[in-house]
Amino acid sequence: MHDPANSLLFDLIKRRSVTPDDAGCQDLIAARLADLGFVSETMVFGDVTNLWARRGSGAPLFCFAGHTDVVPPGDLGEWQSDPFEPDIRDGHVYGRGSADMKSGLAAMVVAVERFLADHPGHPGSIAFLITSDEEGRARDGTLKVIETLQARDEKIDWCVIGEPSSHAELGDVVRIGRRGSLSGMLEVRGVQGHVAYPQLADNPIRRFAPVLAELHGIVWDEGNDYFPPTSFQVVNIQSGVGAPNVTPAQLSARFNFRYSTEWDHHRLKERVHVILDAHDIDYQLDWHLSGEPFLTPPGKLIDAVSQAVKEQTGRAPELSTGGGTSDGRFISPAGADVVELGPISASIHKINERVKLDDVGTLASMYQRVLELLLASS
Ligand SMILES: [Zn+2]
Repeated sequence: MHDPANSLLFDLIKRRSVTPDDAGCQDLIAARLADLGFVSETMVFGDVTNLWARRGSGAPLFCFAGHTDVVPPGDLGEWQSDPFEPDIRDGHVYGRGSADMKSGLAAMVVAVERFLADHPGHPGSIAFLITSDEEGRARDGTLKVIETLQARDEKIDWCVIGEPSSHAELGDVVRIGRRGSLSGMLEVRGVQGHVAYPQLADNPIRRFAPVLAELHGIVWDEGNDYFPPTSFQVVNIQSGVGAPNVTPAQLSARFNFRYSTEWDHHRLKERVHVILDAHDIDYQLDWHLSGEPFLTPPGKLIDAVSQAVKEQTGRAPELSTGGGTSDGRFISPAGADVVELGPISASIHKINERVKLDDVGTLASMYQRVLELLLASS
């Protein structure tokens, strides 16, 4: 017999929830939660289905968050088993979403079932915020649910996200924040001309080169206790008309900041514009903000998660702010403490994605312990 968390994981993998399709995963979870006394609301925005389920009305409000959508499987011929048929080999469960992040979802549900069996009248409330739009545009998912909750003054105090945070072993790393991500799309305009008559043209490559050097020369910050130094990277530059004797009329460049809490996007943008304006160039710059940096300060949530991990593994987790963005960027600004704790991330988004069979039940035990530490002993 499998651990109940694994059984639920298998049922979730079988639902082909390629982003943003939920494929019935949320109905399955909502049915389990209804049996426990949760009141579920399905929030549909665009083509995205979200689930907000809450049990209790008092504070503090503890929330489990996650996503049911998965990235496409890729070349089916390269998979050793059907990505939507859970397959057990060498102590692992294989399937798309097994690590990112259906095992996290399964562990949360089972953790709450066990916690409520022991503490049916606990103080505070428990909620689930589940979206099917994390791997896609992330516009109609967690962001919109949080806006809805804010509009009716419903506030999350503590949030655990089941994203795959672990490196080599379950619980070795938990995320307590994320860097911000800001992209710039720059266009520099000049005048096209014959390469032999530069005085009659205005080459945007020549004008942009010193700007690029200056941007690369800046030490944006030294990082701080929780974040590595802010990084500026150019990801694309395009110019030229294709002929060797013509200088181009325009240049486009795309760059990205991964930034620490030493900055916010307003100040970063301002700094870049000051540099551009100091050079004599004709430009247009469009920005895209993926998320501001966030950090959960030391406190009850981090203590509880650290202790729960330590009890299961014998070691306290590393508290990290590394990695890409997550939906924590939407939940944290609403005033919640947010920690990400989930399985090993090594295979996520890859062919033959997998999770260790034993880790799913252990993760459920960790989540259950977090609930006990925060809601049973207060
Ligand atoms: Zn994920």
